[in-house]
Amino acid sequence: MRLFAATLATETNTFSPLPTSLEAYKESVFYRPGEHPDDAPRMCTAPLFVARRRAAEEGFTLIEGSCFAASPSGTTNRADYELMRDEILGQLKAAMPVDGVLLGLHGAMVAYGYDDVEGDILERARAIVDKACVIGVELDPHCHLTLQRIRASDIIVCYKEYPHTDVVDRAEDVLTLVLATLRGKIKPVMSLYDCRQLQSYPTTEPLMRAFVDRIKGMEGQDGILSISIVHGFPYADVPENSSRVLVIADADKGKADRLATRLGEELVSMRGKTIPPFLAIADGVAAATASNATPVVIAEPGDNAGGGAPSDNTSIVRHLIGRNIEGAAVGPIWDPIAVRLCFDAGEGATFPLRFGGKIGPASGAPVDARVTVTRLARGCWQSFGPTQVPLGDCAAVRVGGVEVVLITNRTQALGLELFTNLGIDPRQRRIVVVKSTNHFMAAFGPIAKRVIYVDSDAPLARDYRTIGYRRVERPIWPLDEETNPRLIF
Ligand SMILES: [Zn+2]
Repeated sequence: MRLFAATLATETNTFSPLPTSLEAYKESVFYRPGEHPDDAPRMCTAPLFVARRRAAEEGFTLIEGSCFAASPSGTTNRADYELMRDEILGQLKAAMPVDGVLLGLHGAMVAYGYDDVEGDILERARAIVDKACVIGVELDPHCHLTLQRIRASDIIVCYKEYPHTDVVDRAEDVLTLVLATLRGKIKPVMSLYDCRQLQSYPTTEPLMRAFVDRIKGMEGQDGILSISIVHGFPYADVPENSSRVLVIADADKGKADRLATRLGEELVSMRGKTIPPFLAIADGVAAATASNATPVVIAEPGDNAGGGAPSDNTSIVRHLIGRNIEGAAVGPIWDPIAVRLCFDAGEGATFPLRFGGKIGPASGAPVDARVTVTRLARGCWQSFGPTQVPLGDCAAVRVGGVEVVLITNRTQALGLELFTNLGIDPRQRRIVVVKSTNHFMAAFGPIAKRVIYVDSDAPLARDYRTIGYRRVERPIWPLDEETNPRLIF
């Protein structure tokens, strides 16, 4: 038995002023066959990672393709996408004949000229392999699960957790289902229900927590092989952007249809009920300073690099400095130029630094302050569950009672290392501000005495009605009140 595995992934915010080129992939994940590290998967590479681990015991040969992944950002350069895609497809052709294909994709990647990158890759892969070849795909739930992808593949599994702490578990599911299909033990059929809504679904909130726990209990029972809740990614102006429910059943299409419909209708009934409350910055900071139990973690989803935001909005930092708040740490602010200047100044130096507020109007004005460089560190990492995320060279600066972590590789706050790399222990601070929508909860949730979500003027608007969609299929909630949720496959 021969399986081929590869990755091509990023999450595209089509409204972002930061286009994504080959350079961004080279800075994040850029491994040719055999080069993928053994210690942990990187971003969306878990299918290759688990297949490598299980090949010997399960008796198959793994043919490794390339793995390319970039941090969420703007639309990918067309020539660069085609170069990476054609490299992987060329490897697949050279590997023929194969019995199975495992792809670690994101699912919300857009390239100039390609609204549905994953659909394009899957359709081209299907054209290369035999009809009997089983194509299994792992996707982020923040994806656009298009009909083109469903038609071109046999098994699609999304992460269930948000924060995405189960990327390896779900890759194991994909491989297990692909192998069981190849061994003739199951015959997967997929059904897809379109909820016609855009919403965020953190599984750290009670309603989604209970929903996900319940669907996990349905898998493996009564011929249900897999259930994926497709959240959608709201910051993309592509036609098929919507929350969807995917059910894979064993041979029984009617059963898959009925369950996808039932769960889809349930998700429709959760409109407006799955996200925590948001405070204005001033109210959030006031509530945090009034708290006796510390640290209080303040999350700023609007500037989440994980949603394609620049992560250099300065409104919260400015507010903290202006109010002379003591014991506050903020991170990350993406500003490679400011990091360079801090390295030039050296640890312990106090000098006038301009930081943040560079990329666009939604970044706000830069902060100009006399800062003290408290710590410098080269080539830093932070962890996110089992994965490692590079931060690049980092600098910590202090302005009064406020410490700010400046990073070189744009990414959101995920692991405590973001701060501890620079000698800042977030457990010892009164207020810890993180730029992240919900992934921060995996590491910061357990140490936080309280979590406060604030709505800032950073680019990822929380009210999707204010986003200038032109191409998303209508009607869709909350843009439209009347919608037509339905089974579409
Ligand atoms: Zn995601």
